[in-house]
Amino acid sequence: MSSTATSEKTEQVPYLCGGEWRTSQSNQWGNVHNPSFGTVIGQVPICTPGEIDEVIASSQAALGEWSRTPVVDRARIMFSLHHFMDEQFEDLSQLVTREHGKTLPEARAEVQRGLEMVEFAASVPTMIQGDTLPNIAADVDGETVRHPVGVCVGITPYNFPAMVPLWMFPVAITCGNTFILKPSEKVPLSAIRLGELLIEAGLPDGVFNIVHGGQECVRKLITAPEVAAISFVGSTRVARIVYGTGTQHGKRVQSAGGAKNHMVIMPDADVELAVKALSASAYGCAGQRCMAGSIAVSVGKASDPVVEGLCDYAGRFSVGPTDGDDQVDMGPLINPDAVERVTGYLEIAAEEGANVALDGRRDFDSDGFLIGPSVVDHVQPDMRLAQEEIFGPVLSVIRTDDLEEAIAVGDRCRYGNGASIFTRDGYAAREFKTRFNAGMIGINVGVPAPMAWLPFTGWNESFFGDLHIQGTESVHFYTRQKMTLTRWFASSADSHQDPVWATQQRKS
Ligand code: NAD
Repeated sequence: MSSTATSEKTEQVPYLCGGEWRTSQSNQWGNVHNPSFGTVIGQVPICTPGEIDEVIASSQAALGEWSRTPVVDRARIMFSLHHFMDEQFEDLSQLVTREHGKTLPEARAEVQRGLEMVEFAASVPTMIQGDTLPNIAADVDGETVRHPVGVCVGITPYNFPAMVPLWMFPVAITCGNTFILKPSEKVPLSAIRLGELLIEAGLPDGVFNIVHGGQECVRKLITAPEVAAISFVGSTRVARIVYGTGTQHGKRVQSAGGAKNHMVIMPDADVELAVKALSASAYGCAGQRCMAGSIAVSVGKASDPVVEGLCDYAGRFSVGPTDGDDQVDMGPLINPDAVERVTGYLEIAAEEGANVALDGRRDFDSDGFLIGPSVVDHVQPDMRLAQEEIFGPVLSVIRTDDLEEAIAVGDRCRYGNGASIFTRDGYAAREFKTRFNAGMIGINVGVPAPMAWLPFTGWNESFFGDLHIQGTESVHFYTRQKMTLTRWFASSADSHQDPVWATQQRKS
């Protein structure tokens, strides 16, 4: 995080501790940008160790009463949150666009996905119900119930300022936990707005807190003895660190990392539809999605029409500032470093012998962090473009002869978030679905990201942990089971022999 250097009057981003919005006393602050114009719109602190301690203490203090609050009352907070989010849907979407740079329709889709997480969390009373097995042994009844795990921490990336926090805290707090959110320092404003709405929805003080910072802040949070569970979403490099450190300190951790998603286009696919789906997948949110298709694996005679179609279709995208213009096709990247990284990969492509068929580098009439969509043809599976996450609007094309070769491309990739196939052939689709090396599969769907009710099942180096984000797995992540065996006696004359462990009469 760079230190403050701005002449503009900007908003100081507060942190949230025990229901109170506070201004950090830190002497380290960074800038929040509006990527559409390159302007500074906020200053975010690196909270001091003392401030982080206070936030942890307030989460711990709120835990007892909140965990004992009837689950239906906890769920009702989600109904209220939903109401306020729905009411402020457009403002929230505009804020996402302003601090992230994605187009307004993309921001609306993000907020909609987040709202669905709130809807899902409202059904926690049904999902945390336990099992009973009466008379599991003579006069003994067995039951399981789900308890909250305690203080939970969420560390989120910049690419979904509202949705990724909403992947975490609604389920966590409805399950009876308290929650500390450490949003990305690049996009903290949407998280602040969500915190305001939670307070408006009636959430008791201390149940939800927000703290800001980078590596040191995260380390303090994930090693704190009071913290029971950690949800992380971000790059694989950091996901691995958070998983390793968190688990070494005895925490429950779900840690989602980066990705390199393949889209296979079979010779029988409807090329026009496939090209549109591929472009939406690769260039949506300017390629800054962990489920963005970043490699088109064309099979046989699909290759030439797909490459030509992509260059023609994506070459006509309007690229520009998104804040205040909801007609633009693709917005800016998050910061100048990201533009430089993408540019660097286009140079690497040429050095490695691939062909930049559509080049997104051009002059824009704006100080925003802009670059257009690129298509890189004749990429080989071992090239850096095929192996490394670019996280920008670059679609590489690997040409293959048949489905077997296409499936083998996936086997050589260390990530495993998503993969899609475009075909009319049920057999090919079934083979692909069964054998492709990724945890989320699309059949004629460019972005196979599940909605709230299903788990976000990344594989390989795209996920570290056991229980994924979203769906029933998330309810299991934020709860722990307790099993009780109960036995009542009719009278003191009853046998006090242990009915479970008593030696059974075995038939000889
Ligand atoms: P990032 O890893 O740089 O940052 C994520 C979070 O970790 C931020 O809050 C950041 O402040 C913190 N952080 C950064 N460096 C750290 C360190 N050394 N130690 C501890 N914490 C640290 O990720 P990003 O650039 O904000 O987001 C983009 C990445 O997120 C991409 O790799 C993308 O694929 C991934 N992502 C994955 C998913 C998924 O579900 N798998 C979803 C969205 C984004």
